[in-house]
Amino acid sequence: MSPDHDGVRRPLRFVVIGAGMAGILSAIKLREAGFGSVAVYEKADRLGGTWRDNTYPGIACDIPSHLYRYSFAPNPNWTHTFAPGPEILAYLEGVAERFGVTDAIQLNTEVTRLRHDGERWQVELSNGSTDQADVVIGATGVLHHPRYPDIDGLGTFGGACFHSARWDHSVELTGRRVGIIGTGSSAVQIVSAIIGTVGNLYLFQRTPQWILPVPNPPIDEEQRAVFRQDPASMDALRKELAHTFETSFANAVVDANSPQMAFIEEMCRQNLENSVRDPELRERLRPDYRPACKRLVVSPDFYEAIQQPNAHLITEKILRIEPQGVRTTDGTLHELDVLVLATGFRVDQFLRPIEVTGPTGVTLEELWAQRPYAYYSISIPGLPNLFLLNGPNGPVGNFSLIDVAELQFDYISQLIDLIARGEARLITATTEATERFEQARVDAARNTVWVTGCRSWYLDDRGIPSAWPWSFDRFRAEMAAPRLEDFELVR
Ligand code: NAP
Repeated sequence: MSPDHDGVRRPLRFVVIGAGMAGILSAIKLREAGFGSVAVYEKADRLGGTWRDNTYPGIACDIPSHLYRYSFAPNPNWTHTFAPGPEILAYLEGVAERFGVTDAIQLNTEVTRLRHDGERWQVELSNGSTDQADVVIGATGVLHHPRYPDIDGLGTFGGACFHSARWDHSVELTGRRVGIIGTGSSAVQIVSAIIGTVGNLYLFQRTPQWILPVPNPPIDEEQRAVFRQDPASMDALRKELAHTFETSFANAVVDANSPQMAFIEEMCRQNLENSVRDPELRERLRPDYRPACKRLVVSPDFYEAIQQPNAHLITEKILRIEPQGVRTTDGTLHELDVLVLATGFRVDQFLRPIEVTGPTGVTLEELWAQRPYAYYSISIPGLPNLFLLNGPNGPVGNFSLIDVAELQFDYISQLIDLIARGEARLITATTEATERFEQARVDAARNTVWVTGCRSWYLDDRGIPSAWPWSFDRFRAEMAAPRLEDFELVR
């Protein structure tokens, strides 16, 4: 018998915002727990979140594929060590289908307002209809809202111009003059993917990046057949990868002085020294900050691509954009047919621009007037029964966000259980516990490599990393069970 009707747990209505990786996860887990009344609202016309939005040439995940998967849906068919984007999108769609949650997802439906009336969340939707929910799960993603650069004349460019997360596939690149602004993970993948097709490529670099040279070998059909026939061998590989990844990389970045960090730094330096032949180009590509201070860029072939005769690294500052191209401060006009803005994302948005009002009348805009925060990235004091997946200051970037979301969901499900069993009607983290958590997080962030002297999207307006500053083991331990004394439970 489902908990909706078992007489012990009361029926609950759930609204999940966003049908990306975390929204799909929520629908599957809620249904699995026996909650039948679940609506997932997705503003786009297709599920898949970041993997739907980002379709630029060369897109791949830099977390090994056998780690970047739901624990309950291992995939023996990944074709590469780091799967290409379209394969991940197909995987997410396949999982939603296989676990029977596509009917819960309403596409082309944006949540515009959430207002808690003291009993339930009143939900307003872009199509003019409304819903009500006992519990809302915000699964709106971190790297979602494109950041457009504030450069003079951007709107005047005469050719095609688009953000890396809004790739215009109708634009022909073959033989053309293509400019790319930015040198983050997106730009680096694009450069390697298109250098062989474009006429000339102009990479506008404001800050050089360290590049970790990790190859991306295919997983051949023979190996995939082994995984299909013997899932235990796939799990063994996953465990090995997880162990290597956590001990060598993910945990190194939170301890800037660890031997693992020193090893990564050395690999990056050797890559630059050994891969870039022209000493002048090498110096222009050399960052003046420590490797992994910015989110480390992983690429086996970027240096090779940028040394091709049709590749031009532009390090002069951009003065303005003109109808014919990009003018740099040395007076040169770099004439272009296509301009790609690989300029990253606005990482302080989360639920925004949804208007959220709690039962006391307090709004999310007021609560987050300075910057977004949440108790353990999950609960915002003043906004009960609203839980976030991959919310503010959570483990981002260096972990498999699917693992992160699963651990967070298991934690949230324990809170939901209290509501379903009538032990609490409303649950929110207390302000005091949230402030304590924030202070500990800010203190610990001082030991991370992210504060060793660079500008990056990790840093908030105070220069403090908006990230989990501890090990993944600690995250796993903290997510095992909520400390109920840190929550306000209203009966
Ligand atoms: P990003 O890392 O934020 O990089 C943005 C780039 O644009 C930076 O080089 C930045 O320069 C430059 N830029 C921004 N505004 C500019 C301006 N006005 N003038 C000149 N340059 C400007 O963005 P991203 O490459 O899209 O990557 C974001 C994150 O997405 C990554 O860190 C990663 O977490 C994720 N991602 C992962 C993968 C993967 O799995 N392989 C691929 C893509 C993205 P500065 O450095 O000087 O600020």
